[in-house]
Amino acid sequence: MITNNAQETLTFGKELGNKLPKGAILSFHGDLGAGKTTFIKGIASGVTGCSPDEVTSPTFTLLNIHKGPSGVLYHFDLYRLHEEEEFFTMGFDEYLEIGAVCCIEWPERIPSLMKESIKVTLTPLSEEKREIIVEGINL
Ligand code: ADP
Ligand code: MG
Repeated sequence: MITNNAQETLTFGKELGNKLPKGAILSFHGDLGAGKTTFIKGIASGVTGCSPDEVTSPTFTLLNIHKGPSGVLYHFDLYRLHEEEEFFTMGFDEYLEIGAVCCIEWPERIPSLMKESIKVTLTPLSEEKREIIVEGINL
């Protein structure tokens, strides 16, 4: 999929969010500014039933939990996680098994936990164009 602006990425995210099975784990790949958080906001909107405007993004926290009438989404941003061990210390590994949809930015920080995730890769093609590849689920 190619999106031409952030709004299209939100819309595509919402469509994907509507199709995800309970407990799906998604890992996000792409540089800073690629659009990972934007796409996850769209997914959160699809999963929870809230509008993307109501979905706030985690700027300084490792985990944001989004709850809405139709479901729950856990958004991990592990950019500031120093080592995998910390993830276990905080009990986050248990959150992956609760049955909520989990979206993980910087999954490289927890390599041993990411084996069976749906892989999402975002690549900027221009200022506002993004290529979004989703592997591991039939859309
Ligand atoms: P990341 O989480 O990968 O660092 P963000 O989603 O926080 O990226 O930021 C992406 C930035 O790029 C936002 O400012 C967004 O408005 C902008 N942008 C421009 N075009 C797009 C697009 N097609 N999809 C997603 N974001 C886009
Ligand atoms: Mg981000």
